[in-house]
Amino acid sequence: MEKLNVNENCIGCGMCVAIDQEHFEIVDGLSKATNSDNLDSKDLENAIASCPVAAIEKTEEN
Ligand code: SF4
Repeated sequence: MEKLNVNENCIGCGMCVAIDQEHFEIVDGLSKATNSDNLDSKDLENAIASCPVAAIEKTEEN
């Protein structure tokens, strides 16, 4: 199963949250992935592409 994660590169710019409220929120100044549903959404794709430090990852979890 795929899981959505924001890694330690996040600088808290807020871009992903502005684009995709379904998957991200800012917690203590940094982005946090709030759920791993609907990972094929266009908004998520745009958020991943827009992150300036490539901090958003989809990882395979068993
Ligand atoms: S777009 Fe990237 S750097 Fe900006 S808050 Fe989201 S994960 Fe962090």
